[in-house]
Amino acid sequence: MKEHQNAASAHQGMNIIFFLGPPGSGKGTQARLLTKVCGASLLGMGDLLRQEVQEKTALGQKIKPVLEEGALPSWKHFVREVFEKQLDALKSSWVIFDGVPRTEEQMMDVESMIASRKARILSVFFLEVPDEILIHRLVGRYQCASCGASYMRNIEESDFQDVPCANCGSQKFSQRPDDQEEVIRKRLRLYNETMGPLVTHYQKKGLLKKVDGILPISEIQALIFNDLKEKSASFPSIS
Ligand SMILES: [Zn+2]
Repeated sequence: MKEHQNAASAHQGMNIIFFLGPPGSGKGTQARLLTKVCGASLLGMGDLLRQEVQEKTALGQKIKPVLEEGALPSWKHFVREVFEKQLDALKSSWVIFDGVPRTEEQMMDVESMIASRKARILSVFFLEVPDEILIHRLVGRYQCASCGASYMRNIEESDFQDVPCANCGSQKFSQRPDDQEEVIRKRLRLYNETMGPLVTHYQKKGLLKKVDGILPISEIQALIFNDLKEKSASFPSIS
């Protein structure tokens, strides 16, 4: 396989990696690890939307109540445009989509965005984790308020926020308002309903790589790296 050149036409040859998986499956963690290895840009739907909410943009004001209920904001009416703008701002030859596509509508839209920019989907990772484990994980999840890295609290631990963020050193943490059990169950139901057709679609295309999301983070990481190395000679070797 030939190396991709630093293409003058912005997105030609861009390798795009999808991470599918329910909330709490660890896809965000894996996506972040991958950015460090191959210098990929991360286009995270959750991050993107939370940022809009935090900055109180027009979009943010509209989607805040929707997110707090555990529902999905309308892609067609306002999210699509923000997503496409973010994609066009990226310069790197590796891009990870985390949390997009989530529905068939998004899948069609995102695929046409990719095709029209002459980029390609290299791999679609699907992290599988049983619902009960997800619920347990999500109830204990908290995040770094400054960089967004996620952490798990042990149920026995009461002072979970005393250790600084391993990623950026910040000592401010927050728990997402949508990480509460009832909301979590609703999100998982919604997720399971909408994800089936996407999994089938990428399976047929030969792009889907199912990963057991219960494995330790480093083992999942190794499976992902190996898959990408097989598919692209320009994927960096890890020492
Ligand atoms: Zn941090």
